[in-house]
Amino acid sequence: MADYRKMWEDLGMDVDTHDQLCEVLPQAFGDVYLSQENRPESMDYYNFVVAEIHGVRPAELIEHQKKGGKVFGTFCVYVPDEIVFAADAIATGLCGGSQFWVPGGEKVLPTNTCPLIKASVGARLDRTCPFFRIADMYVGETTCDGKKKAWEILAEDVPVHVMDLPQMKREKDVCSWADEIRTFKKVVEDFTGNEITAEKLAASIHMINNKRKALERLYAFRKNDKLPISGKDVLLISQIAFYDDPTRFAEMTNKLCDELEQRVADGISVFPEGTKRIMLTGTPLAIPNWKIHNLVETSGGAVVCEEMCTGTRYFERLVDETKTTVDEQIDALAERYMGINCACFTPNHGRIDDIIRLAKEYKVDGVIDVNLKFCSLYDVEGYTVERELQKAGIPVLGIETDYVDSDAQQLRTRISAFIEMLGA
Ligand code: SF4
Ligand code: SF4
Repeated sequence: MADYRKMWEDLGMDVDTHDQLCEVLPQAFGDVYLSQENRPESMDYYNFVVAEIHGVRPAELIEHQKKGGKVFGTFCVYVPDEIVFAADAIATGLCGGSQFWVPGGEKVLPTNTCPLIKASVGARLDRTCPFFRIADMYVGETTCDGKKKAWEILAEDVPVHVMDLPQMKREKDVCSWADEIRTFKKVVEDFTGNEITAEKLAASIHMINNKRKALERLYAFRKNDKLPISGKDVLLISQIAFYDDPTRFAEMTNKLCDELEQRVADGISVFPEGTKRIMLTGTPLAIPNWKIHNLVETSGGAVVCEEMCTGTRYFERLVDETKTTVDEQIDALAERYMGINCACFTPNHGRIDDIIRLAKEYKVDGVIDVNLKFCSLYDVEGYTVERELQKAGIPVLGIETDYVDSDAQQLRTRISAFIEMLGA
């Protein structure tokens, strides 16, 4: 990585502790990613983004702030980035996916809190992530209890706006989410000093839809019998989608897709014939959480789909672009976002339908239901997920894990046995 020390110091970061993270990340990335054979050349862009993860994009965000722009940090796929970009601000994902930040979170949160929340709080309070320092305002949501309480702790340190997400999907809930988006629009306008017009909102809806379309195009290659790209690589791209510039991201992902089209035409596959096709479902895999993909793809399987927030929930379904007034556009946003199926909703039949549909579309041999430790929402829903998959005749393995590597060997044994069983 280039030398960003001065930038990190100016951000008030604990640079010495942050150095420890900078030391381990390249090794982890090399082991998991660069060791793969026959990767598409266009992966170079994403390799570069990760190599410079705490440098290039943070520097761009700071440039934007120097010109008077604001940066909003988000933690959930229900928060509509379109509103932020329509006010000439930038939205960036802030979910923490590394064990490195967990002890910092445990200083203020109970140990039995999910690692995603602990890592996110730790990254802010320990001052060891530039993105968490740069964001002028955090946008939380009322999705799960751990997050709700974490916003209160974070709000002592940084401005936080919390969106009240309904937990049912009746018509009145969709209307209530639209109202919540209207309130968010006002908050963003006041904070940035920029009015969100129908024209600006139309442009940002179009921009984010283009990002979704690029991801959808990428995922479609995973429906092929011959897989031109690994699941690990697609996961990395999905993770980068949360904080890269949306227009550049769509451009680079479409460029990669052009290369993948050629690979398909040339009959190139990155896996040997007969490799078992695995779908993951469950809690999000925030960067740099590559553990399960790595275990599957070094145990005789290929991950072909993720029914996760770092997966299909992020890009499926577009926002209707035909609306011409801000009010109608906000209703269209509410309609699209309330179509996402997170375990925080009750009842949540839509998620089961999605999982069964995706398992068929991606021709999967088996599903791994992977949940972060202490996430009771996904843990409890796992009962229904696994029962319905079994009913549909789709083999399923349920696992619970967190960010530490100490369970990797035990998980490898279980995942290998599962994949082997699929061949029987
Ligand atoms: S799992 Fe649910 S709460 Fe977590 S990011 Fe996804 S939608 Fe949001
Ligand atoms: S993984 Fe579960 S507990 Fe953790 S933030 Fe998401 S919904 Fe909440």
